[in-house]
Amino acid sequence: MHATIEAAARRLADAGRVVALTGAGVSAESGLDTFRGADGIWARFDPDEVAAAGGWLGYLIARPWDGMELLRGIRDAFGTAEPNDAHRALAELESIDRLHALITQNIDGLHRAAGSTHVIEMHGTFRRKRCSGCGGCEDVSRERFVADIDAMIARLGSFLVHHPAHLLDRCPCGGLLRPDIVGFGDAVHGLVEATEAVDAADVVLVCGTSGVVYPAASLPERARERGAVVIEIDPLPTELTPLADISVRDSAGRALPALVDAVRRVGSSV
Ligand code: NAD
Ligand code: ZN
Repeated sequence: MHATIEAAARRLADAGRVVALTGAGVSAESGLDTFRGADGIWARFDPDEVAAAGGWLGYLIARPWDGMELLRGIRDAFGTAEPNDAHRALAELESIDRLHALITQNIDGLHRAAGSTHVIEMHGTFRRKRCSGCGGCEDVSRERFVADIDAMIARLGSFLVHHPAHLLDRCPCGGLLRPDIVGFGDAVHGLVEATEAVDAADVVLVCGTSGVVYPAASLPERARERGAVVIEIDPLPTELTPLADISVRDSAGRALPALVDAVRRVGSSV
C-alpha cells in the first residue's frame, strides 16, 4: 500500500464535499488510447485539418476515405470498450457518499456505464445525440452507436454525401441528430455546473488527465487557489502536478480501488 494512498484516503474521509476530474487515462485500461499517446486514432488526425473542414462532419464529407478510416477507428474503440476498475471505484466512492460530482473530459460514456450518476461530461459523449433544431437529446445504446457509425460508413462509401443531412438521422422537429460531442473550438458543456461543484469542494481528485486541455485544466487551479486539497492520480507527472498536495504515481485501475478500500478502513476507524 502506498503511503500516499493512505494520506489521500484520510483527506477524502474528512472532506465535506469531494469532486473528481477525470481524463483519457482513466479509460486507458479499458483499451482506449489516451490523447497524447504516440499512436491510436487521435494521432492520425490533424486538428487543424478537421477545423479547416468546419468540424468533424465537414471533414468526413470533404475526405470520405480518411473519414471512413476515422469512423472505423472510433467504432472499434468506443463500440467495444467496457468500464474498468477505475470507473467502478469512482462509482463506489459516490455510493458511499465520498464523491459528490464527477467531471470528465472523456466522451466514452464509461463513467455512467459503471454506475456513476452525478457526471458532468464537459466534452460531451458518443452515448447521446443532440438535435441541431430543438436542442433535444436522446441517449444512445452501445448497439445503436455501432449501428449509426456503420450506417455513416456505408453512406460515405457511396460517395454521394455532400451535406450532413446525408449522414445523420432527423429529429421529429426536422433538425439533424448529431453525436453530442464537443468539437475543437466549440463551447464545453456544463462549465457552470462544474465550476459550482469545484467551488464547493474541499477535495479535488484529479485522475488520468495531462492538464493541458482548457477550461477543464483550470478547475484544479481554481480549487487550489481557494485552499482545497488537490489529489492527483497519474503514472506520470503532469501539468497539474505542481498544484497537487498529494500525487499518487500509479495507474487509475490500481490506485482508485486501493483508495476506496483505504477510505472505507479510515472511515470505519474514526
Ligand atoms: P491526455 O491524453 O492529454 O492525458 C492522459 C493522462 O493520463 C496522461 O497524464 C497519462 O500519463 C495518464 N495515464 C495514462 N495511462 C493511465 C492510467 N492507466 N491510469 C491513470 N492515468 C493514466 O488526456 P486528457 O487530459 O483527458 O485530454 C484528452 C482530450 O481528448 C480530452 O479533451 C478528451 O475529450 C479527448 N479524449 C477522450 C478519450 C475518451 O473518451 N476515452 C480518449 C482520448 C482523448
Ligand atoms: Zn429536434
